[in-house]
Amino acid sequence: MQKAESSKKINIIYLLGPGRSGTTLLATVLDNFSNICTLGEMHQFLEHLQDEKECSCGKKLERCPYWSDIISNLVEKDFELDYYRNLSENLEEHHHIPLLLITNKENKSYSILQKKIFNNIKSFSKEKWKVDSSKYIARYLRLKQQKEFNVKGIYLTRDVRGVINSFHKKVQTPKKPLSAILYYLVINFFSEVVYRLDKNVIKVKYEDFTQNPEKILQRIFNHLGEQKSVKLPESHAIPHIIGGNRMKRNKMIKISEDNAWKKNISRKKQIIYYFCAFPFMKLNNYKL
Ligand SMILES: [Zn+2]
Repeated sequence: MQKAESSKKINIIYLLGPGRSGTTLLATVLDNFSNICTLGEMHQFLEHLQDEKECSCGKKLERCPYWSDIISNLVEKDFELDYYRNLSENLEEHHHIPLLLITNKENKSYSILQKKIFNNIKSFSKEKWKVDSSKYIARYLRLKQQKEFNVKGIYLTRDVRGVINSFHKKVQTPKKPLSAILYYLVINFFSEVVYRLDKNVIKVKYEDFTQNPEKILQRIFNHLGEQKSVKLPESHAIPHIIGGNRMKRNKMIKISEDNAWKKNISRKKQIIYYFCAFPFMKLNNYKL
């Protein structure tokens, strides 16, 4: 009986933590397992729908072989896309996090919307687990409120200097070092709080994942309660993902550690950045 109950639930693997911490890489690797399907950054789903943005396959959602059925079934009759998009974008903003941690107050319209989206995805895509790599902590806390959802969190963290270097590249949302550090401190603070309060969240270091992916994936499968022995292929195909970084433009990717910051950032700045983010660098065992 209990088993039937849990199989009715929508199982979500939610990646949280600061941007530029390797979430697109981890989400892509997870998609290669037969019981997992990666959706991408689902906080951008309604934006992609309304502004006719492309899936990672290069096609608009209505033409993408993965998303077309899902959205044609979703956007029927009087689906007020504009209203729902504004509602979601507002409710998922970071300033809601403290209140959500204390009161767990639910927004009914938002909950109905998310159930509708994920139920649609579930009816067309049969893999047990769906990966949402949105990273937004308020979104994680709101999805977790739904008793129909079984949400397992993975908090991904990375050396601040890798994050700063990555934000410096031509990305969707570039940041200067100071604002990257502030962002890093705020998001890691809330991620750490959620991680400590919520046994459904595990913490993974980007560097550990790239150095020993099979070991980390084994930890993730244990966290999901899945009996699976991990054997990784040489390279990983990019699924049909919403949002994500420019890595998604490749057809296949390989797991390799991005250590470019060691060359690109002067030693003096490396030391300054390290001490600016000291609490998290120390806590997560990053060396100077
Ligand atoms: Zn696609």
